[in-house]
Amino acid sequence: PYRSPLTAFGTSWPGDPSQSGRLAPWMDTWQGRSSSSSLPRSSLLPVNAQGDFEQADEYFRVVIRVRPPLDRELTSPVWQHVVSVPTNSQICLYETIAEVNAGDRASGTTQVVNTHTFSFDYVYDQDASQPEVYENAARPSVQSALQGYNATVVAYGPTGTGKTYTMEGSRWHTGIIPRSMEDIFQNVTRSEQSTFQVRASYLQIYNEVISDLLKPDRSHLMIREDKRRGVFVEGLSEWLCRSPDEVETLMEHGSAARATAQTGANDTSSRSHAVFIIVVERSDPSSRVTGRLNLVDLAGSERPRVTGATGQRLEETKKINQSLSALGNVIAALTERKARSHVPYRDSKLTRLLEDSLGGNCRTTMMAMVSPAAEAFAESLSTLKFAQRAKGVLTTPQVNEDLDPRLLARRYEAEIRRLRTELAERDAAKGWPAALKAEDMFDPSQLMKSEASTLRTDFSGGRTKGSEEEKAQVGRYKQLLLKQRDIMIALTQRLHERDETIIGLQAELDSRDHRANELQERLERQAMRLAAAEKALQASSKANMASGPGLFPRQPPPVSKQPALPEAPSPKASPDSSPRAAQVLETDRLPRHLPESRIDSPTASQRGLPRSADTSAAKWGHGLLNADDKVLELTSLLETQRQENHRMKLELESMQDAPRKTNPSVASTMASLSGSDATGHYSDFLGRFRERATRSKRDEQDRFRWQPSPARSSSIPARAGF
Ligand code: ADP
Ligand code: MG
Repeated sequence: PYRSPLTAFGTSWPGDPSQSGRLAPWMDTWQGRSSSSSLPRSSLLPVNAQGDFEQADEYFRVVIRVRPPLDRELTSPVWQHVVSVPTNSQICLYETIAEVNAGDRASGTTQVVNTHTFSFDYVYDQDASQPEVYENAARPSVQSALQGYNATVVAYGPTGTGKTYTMEGSRWHTGIIPRSMEDIFQNVTRSEQSTFQVRASYLQIYNEVISDLLKPDRSHLMIREDKRRGVFVEGLSEWLCRSPDEVETLMEHGSAARATAQTGANDTSSRSHAVFIIVVERSDPSSRVTGRLNLVDLAGSERPRVTGATGQRLEETKKINQSLSALGNVIAALTERKARSHVPYRDSKLTRLLEDSLGGNCRTTMMAMVSPAAEAFAESLSTLKFAQRAKGVLTTPQVNEDLDPRLLARRYEAEIRRLRTELAERDAAKGWPAALKAEDMFDPSQLMKSEASTLRTDFSGGRTKGSEEEKAQVGRYKQLLLKQRDIMIALTQRLHERDETIIGLQAELDSRDHRANELQERLERQAMRLAAAEKALQASSKANMASGPGLFPRQPPPVSKQPALPEAPSPKASPDSSPRAAQVLETDRLPRHLPESRIDSPTASQRGLPRSADTSAAKWGHGLLNADDKVLELTSLLETQRQENHRMKLELESMQDAPRKTNPSVASTMASLSGSDATGHYSDFLGRFRERATRSKRDEQDRFRWQPSPARSSSIPARAGF
């Protein structure tokens, strides 16, 4: 229910004057400004009244829980309540300053200087009970896991704000993990069609080392990823559970092994991130889905100043903060919405393990915990800001389905059966004869048989008038039907042949396409080489003009296997270190690109096309050519390339024309197949058949009533009974 900010403000916390009898002085002098307010995400609210994920379930759900003040806080002289929950989607955090000489007065010790208002998918005030929190924050995730989704609930917040209390709970106030287990097993026992398998694992990440909390000897585990399982921990033990009690036992074992320590903020502060993993495999006759529920209790996000950490504690805190800041960076990257921006999942074990939960295939709920105390103001503010940012994270939840071919086949069979019955029902509703079963529609010979049998029963039984004339007519019909059946069979045969021809033609077409593509590619390569050659030629003639006749290395003589592959002269061997040397290399590089075309088209020489090396073959042996010769040689080379390109273009064109020109037999087959002689003949026949039927109907109007089929105009008329 909506509570106005003022009433909520006045009644729901211990700093309230009506409850404690002590004035909360800053309430009277409240002059605070409102800051960092944001509109509620009402249009995106992903949970409906039943607590199910609804529209926009690709968004992170972010909920806040404010814990009640602890006894030791209430007795502290500096105790101040600075959090209020005006509505179940809003939270206000008050920034106060204290009066320096307040000790000698009963009131007026603090003033609010700033109000930070945030809105979230849900905010639990300090009175929220464990069942309430479970119902709204975790139950949707459990249901999702049962449906085959990945779901994650993450508890985030500074030490001592109630993360472990919320996830595990106490003996009398059980938390999310035990409640989820109960919920899962209730669903398992209720379900009649499906069988379930529930497996549990429990791990912790302590100082960036992953260890198995249910098999303490297994530590330094590695995170792996594969297509089927997504991100997973290799070597993590899995335990088959048959009841919530079994899971509880496992959880107790695991929690005992978890690294905890006493800090300034919490007597048993968790020093590690703990992840409880439940895998639910649901199989029914036609599907098998695997849901995965990760329940994550993070280590505290506090700063060392608050907890007074030193030595080992400080080291731990640094590591914890390192992975939590990696988490912050991942969330920042995910909410940036820049296309393809890098998301640093691999910066810490925590973010890598939660990769799917953060930006992948998962329905995720983040629960951020805050303390109501003024002394935790800075932590609370940074927690709320973090949670605010996380609201923008998008994931892509989808059912993890096992696509086993046998299961698929079974599913399709069921689908076909369903469609058939539906069709039969529809036919029955339309008044078609029951003899025309839905299956018969797919099989012409069946159709004929059923038609014939109906005719037979109609003509032989019940009709006492059965004269010779009728019998003769029955005989004629029989003959007709038999003929029709033969035609049907022949047509089916032809259809099969046609299918085969089409398949053959398709294959031929594919291979032609392939060849055409190949040629196209080669043509492009050639064109590129040509361009390069032209460029080199220009460069060399320019240099020639600038520096007078120079000397260029000659093309090597053709060798048997790769005729024009030149022996690349070593740059060092060239005594010339002037710019011309660079051109020597430049022109020299050119032929090195060429051999491929030679290998590709070994027929070039057979066709008598000029060879670049042949033009200067006579001069070979002098070692170097002068510039004119070089230009000549390159020009002829270009000419060769051009001719080769032309030849390939021609070939390509001829290939594109080919199906029409080269395969007249196929074309004629196609024409004959698509031609109307066979079908025309058949429809003529049907026409005649129908005409006769109509005539006979007219003749025997009192006893026969023909009706044209409503659905299939070209086949046998359906009869609506006699
Ligand atoms: P965290 O795991 O965040 O460090 P804990 O869950 O250990 O914090 O909680 C710290 C203390 O606060 C515990 O003694 C716990 O029982 C108490 N506490 C936390 N949340 C609540 C709550 N909602 N109601 C009552 N006690 C709570
Ligand atoms: Mg804890």
